[in-house]
Amino acid sequence: KNVIEIEDLTKHYQMGQTLVRALDGVTFNVRENEYIAIMGPSGSGKSTLMNLIGCLDTPTTGEYILNEQRVSELDDAELAQIRNREIGFVFQTFNLLPRTDCLSNVELPLIYSGMKSSLRKKQATTTLTKVGLGDRLDHKPNELSGGQRQRVAIARALVNDPSILLADEPTGNLDTKTGDEIMLLFEELHRGGNTIIIVTHEPDIANYARRIIRLRDGKIELDKKVESPTLAN
Ligand code: ADP
Ligand code: ADP
Repeated sequence: KNVIEIEDLTKHYQMGQTLVRALDGVTFNVRENEYIAIMGPSGSGKSTLMNLIGCLDTPTTGEYILNEQRVSELDDAELAQIRNREIGFVFQTFNLLPRTDCLSNVELPLIYSGMKSSLRKKQATTTLTKVGLGDRLDHKPNELSGGQRQRVAIARALVNDPSILLADEPTGNLDTKTGDEIMLLFEELHRGGNTIIIVTHEPDIANYARRIIRLRDGKIELDKKVESPTLAN
């Protein structure tokens, strides 16, 4: 089953006299439970592609189908709803609410979904336990290490049971050892059935995934299977 179908997607920006082709005819599908790394040099279109996949932006032309819904045709309110329901975002800088404890940070997406408080707390606790932070529920982000903060962010991304986990440079602010621990968590999530797309410029991080898509000048330059993924087997 395809979670994502992208066909001939373009995103153009008019900058004065110049037309910037941030994405220029990108086509690929993502099946359920795939684990993909998006690579490419700065300016190659990675952020633009992630913004489109994450329903934060709409394409200039082309087709984006997410779980059989034609995203290209939706209005802003519909996009916001899909974003909250179907996409879990993880960022390089964690983006947690600093004065709010872990439990409340993770509950946030469930508040937007209209879930009642007791159920929210239960579901947020379960998800924090799953990422190894069951004993840190009432800690604030500044009482946690970088790796723990990223785990909270991953729990927040997962708590709504999204169709895709989208992670933009998830290890970019972590030392190598902590980054590897986060990649171990992604591996577990992949094995547990999650569909994962990460953006990274680090080959060692990309090699944890099962498939690498490399962009250059807004086009797919390479789309290949990873032969021996780190941590596989
Ligand atoms: P990265 O993807 O490496 O984290 P960014 O996406 O922030 O970096 O920026 C990549 C390139 O896109 C940069 O050259 C930046 O100047 C350009 N860029 C990003 N957003 C905008 C914008 N809103 N207007 C113009 N240029 C932008
Ligand atoms: P990457 O994430 O790989 O660094 P981006 O997707 O940020 O690449 O950018 C791709 C191209 O589109 C770059 O040339 C960038 O300058 C341009 N770009 C990105 N966002 C904007 C924007 N909002 N306005 C104008 N140009 C943009």
